Amino acid sequence: MTATTPTVTPTSTGPDRAGQVQVSPRPATPIPLNLAPPTTRGKRGKPPRHFVDLTPQERVAAVTELGEKPFRAKQLATHYFTHLDPSPAAMTDLPEASRDTLVRGLFPQLLTPVRTMQADGGTTVKTLWHLFDGAKVESVLMRYPNRSTLCVSSQAGCGMACPFCATGQLGLTRNLSTAEIVEQVRCAAKALADGDVPGGPTRLSNLVFMGMGEPLANYRAVMETVRTLVAPNPDGLGMSARNITVSTVGLVPAIEKLTKEGIPVTLAVSLHAPDDELRDELVPINTRWSVDETLDAARRYFDVTGRRVSIEYALIKDMNDHAWRADLLGEKLAARGKGWVHCNPIPLNPTPGSKWTASEPEVEDEFVRRLRAHGIPTTIRDTRGSDIDGACGQLAAEEDPSA
Ligand code: SF4
Repeated sequence: MTATTPTVTPTSTGPDRAGQVQVSPRPATPIPLNLAPPTTRGKRGKPPRHFVDLTPQERVAAVTELGEKPFRAKQLATHYFTHLDPSPAAMTDLPEASRDTLVRGLFPQLLTPVRTMQADGGTTVKTLWHLFDGAKVESVLMRYPNRSTLCVSSQAGCGMACPFCATGQLGLTRNLSTAEIVEQVRCAAKALADGDVPGGPTRLSNLVFMGMGEPLANYRAVMETVRTLVAPNPDGLGMSARNITVSTVGLVPAIEKLTKEGIPVTLAVSLHAPDDELRDELVPINTRWSVDETLDAARRYFDVTGRRVSIEYALIKDMNDHAWRADLLGEKLAARGKGWVHCNPIPLNPTPGSKWTASEPEVEDEFVRRLRAHGIPTTIRDTRGSDIDGACGQLAAEEDPSA
């Protein structure tokens, strides 16, 4: 998805040839999505070629082009995806001269860690990365007793302009490449495997696309990432698709495309309001695809994949936390059947200087009670990382937390 002006004019709504899903508002009323990078952000380009962006066949071809034997591609894949370490020093099964050539040609440094912040005794780690062109993204690793979850960014910034979200205030800088997303995952998996996170060495078990960006607006790279993550070693990381969650604010054509992929990831829809009047304001893309259209697409996702859909709902004080809205949400979800959905309200993580704040605990409890009364399984979502601005809607890629 690309745009050159801050206002999106009507276009077709289907996927374009490049595999990106076009985001276009309702024709009559162009809405001010922050899709254009400010000119001060400098020139953005395509990241250099990386091993991860290539298919297994292309990897063999690339290795051969560099004057090496084809079987080196498999060795490199093993170093990257199995040992999680593509450094020349680790490649002791390759001749020294070959290591340098191959690493220089196929493993350019795409991410540079600039700052890490920790919370929860070091078991929550937020990393700010600089990309090759100076764009910034963040990822958050959260270790729990029975699993480890990484929240990755799929875009630098975000064009969806949700007014309560720190990332949304940045506008979209650019889409991330597959390798830039996978590198966030590899680095986290390596930190866990090396025992860098308290609790001893472990595996990365879960991944959520809930960092910076709207994942389905960068559809092709996100799906390539998912395919790479679930591919068995040594061609991929061998993760379970069921442990991967792709979130969206409701790009209906992209949800429909995802439905047909045949990869059973969990779909999470960031709804935040059950009525179009309020959702048009909180999630501007709603002016293109309404609450009902979004929920219908989510239900079809369940019908085809059998995967229960998550509904994310940031509880914002006096904005969307009314009892009648809980009832309306419960009714709309229940009207589409039983057992297909799970609701995750989450108290809003306030952005510094923002008028939006979290609901009071008793209001939150009542909201949950009413949803459950409609038969909707509901769990208040963990706000891990909120004290390091690492929770949902807080990723702003600031260099200095006091800035
Ligand atoms: S809430 Fe999600 S979709 Fe909305 S602006 Fe923030 S990152 Fe983008």
